[in-house]
Formats: sequence, structure tokens, C-alpha cells
Amino acid sequence: AGEIQAQDVDGLKIHMPLCMEHLHNELRREKHTRHGGRMQYGLFLKGIGLSLEQALIFWQTAFEKLTPEQFNKNYAYNVRHSYGMEGKRTDYTPYSCKSIIMNNAPGPGDHHGCPFRHFSAPNLRAQLVSHQVDEFDTDDILRLVTNKHYQLACTRYYEVTRAKMLGISTETLKGGGMSEGAVASQESIEHPNQFFEQSFLLMK
Ligand code: SF4
Repeated sequence: AGEIQAQDVDGLKIHMPLCMEHLHNELRREKHTRHGGRMQYGLFLKGIGLSLEQALIFWQTAFEKLTPEQFNKNYAYNVRHSYGMEGKRTDYTPYSCKSIIMNNAPGPGDHHGCPFRHFSAPNLRAQLVSHQVDEFDTDDILRLVTNKHYQLACTRYYEVTRAKMLGISTETLKGGGMSEGAVASQESIEHPNQFFEQSFLLMK
């Protein structure tokens, strides 16, 4: 999606899947994110076009309780590392849904993971309600989750919320009646960055 500046990230939240939106909200609330969340969200942001320079600005301003010295001492290395600028210089890529769903389940106080996989049913329901998903679609999504179809649940969430934002039916959205981006929305969600890019193109 091109170059993104640190200060643009809040405005891009509407295009994020639930997993990344949750990490973003918790980062803003706690002014901190643990390692698992920094990796999941940091690599996602890298994938949407945040440069290393902007990523350092983003994380340093987000961890507003720390002095620049504390940030540099404790966190800057890890940010540079995930951009392949330290250590073995591996240029890490953002995690796929499968990897987020299968690996490294979040513990208490962690905010990484996949809400469809890792939230309790009441918590997920509350999240959906707060995103204006109606009762019928919420039940549908929770049914997919019960059957362990987490990515299909996310795809359904994508369709329902994007259609609502555009003021069209999910059938029109799925039928690709709007634009090229809408055609892509027929695909099921395999990657958080795919969710973001599809949504971004759809709303352009
Ligand atoms: Fe994120 Fe993928 Fe889970 Fe959707 S299915 S919330 S994109 S990890």
C-alpha cells in the first residue's frame, strides 16, 4: 500500500482485521505491548508499508511512558532486528493467519493471537457487537468459530463489516459489483495483510 508514516497508523485502523485492531487498541491503552504482540503487529505494519525509520518513531511514541534512552536501550534493537538490520539479518515477513492461529497461543496479559481462535465466545460476541455486526451475522460467525473455521469466520466478518461501511449488501460486495477490490473480497482471508490490502483497495 505504499509508504506509510507513523502518524497515519491510527487512521488506517478501519482496514485492519480484528487481530491487529485489538493489538493497536491495547497498545494505545497500555502504552506498551509485550514481545509476542510487538512481533505480530510490528511485522504487520512493516507489511503495510511502514519503513524501519517510521517504525522506530511509531513504537517510541507509542511507549510514551519511556524516555528515548530507555526505548533505545530496550526496544530499538528488536525493531531493527525485525527489519533485518541486526543479528542474522533475516528480513522477517508478516505472520499468516495459519501461523497466528496455530503457534504461540497468547497467555494472560498477552494481546497477540487471533480473536476468532483465542477469544472466549462472550468476548468475541462483544467485539462483533461493538463493530456493528448484527445478531444474525454474529450467530453465523460464532457458528463458524465453533466448527473451528476461524479464517472463514474472519472472512465473514470482513464481508459483513465492509458491506456495511460501503452501504451495500454482502451479496453485492461478494459479487464484485463495486470495483476491482470487491472482486478480491471473494477470496477467503489467509493473511492479515491480505485483509488490510483488500479493504484499503475496496474503500479507495
Ligand atoms: Fe487476524 Fe487471520 Fe485471525 Fe483474521 S483470521 S483475525 S486476519 S489472524
